[in-house]
Amino acid sequence: MDLGIRGKTAIVCASSKGLGRGSAQALAEAGVNLVLNARGEEALTATADAIRAACQVQVVTVPGDVTTDAIQAELVGQANEMAGGAVDILVNNAGGPPPGMWSDWDRADWEKALNGNMLTPIALIKAVLPGMIEKKWGRIVNITSGSVRSPIPILGLSNAARAGLTGYVAGTSRQVAQYGVVMNNLLPGAHDTDRIAALAASESKATGKSVDEVKAGRAEALPTKAIGTPEDFGQTCAFMCSDYVKFMIGQNILLDGGAFNSTT
Ligand code: NAP
Repeated sequence: MDLGIRGKTAIVCASSKGLGRGSAQALAEAGVNLVLNARGEEALTATADAIRAACQVQVVTVPGDVTTDAIQAELVGQANEMAGGAVDILVNNAGGPPPGMWSDWDRADWEKALNGNMLTPIALIKAVLPGMIEKKWGRIVNITSGSVRSPIPILGLSNAARAGLTGYVAGTSRQVAQYGVVMNNLLPGAHDTDRIAALAASESKATGKSVDEVKAGRAEALPTKAIGTPEDFGQTCAFMCSDYVKFMIGQNILLDGGAFNSTT
């Protein structure tokens, strides 16, 4: 399917691996030029090389921590230059906070989680919106978490930070829709990435089960009997950046294999 975005430019944050990489790959397949980011330069370069080889698109890398002002400014600057004006698409993503108990976290932990999973995406949204509004076209997808719908007790830092971003997006998306700017959230349930492997390792330590047992149990608990893939997730993200989502405003799209059972 032609998504109608060939030749457009996207920033994909935290995209050397996992869901960010899956989203970058799918956008490139739709003909979108990319500005990619992650802290580890080696994996970032390898991802950029692989995408360039597979798709005939331009790919620029901005190595560094997306939660810092300097990297955010660099991402927007590089993307505007690549677009020859204002960047068209922003995919917000960052690493998730660590699991734990409510009693584990002090102010510094809260500030780090809020910065990574709420204030950083909000800062990037604020930086790209004026250009998108002016040219009357923009797409923003925030990768959040299924925990927005159904909070996960051991992920209190994540639950809280993402709830804050979700509230911001609900209001702001409705303020900018009249200018052709479409902003939504994409909520992953369990997908086969390093993040899920790390959470499985942590659960294995706490329960004495092997990592494989934890992973198998997670898949068995889903209606699909299998966890998701970054590739499928990326295709959904690319569709949410397409020209055809003009009427989807401020939604929270859940990709969780049917784990959350609700009619709303
Ligand atoms: P992942 O496989 O661990 O990949 C994370 C990517 O983000 C890597 O490219 C990593 O590269 C980059 N990254 C992390 N922190 C960064 C930072 N501060 N600045 C720049 N890049 C950064 O994670 P994932 O599974 O794709 O998860 C992506 C997001 O979705 C996370 O917020 C996660 O909590 C959330 N989520 C995932 C799942 C799931 O099933 N996978 C479920 C619910 C929610 P570097 O480490 O080199 O920077």
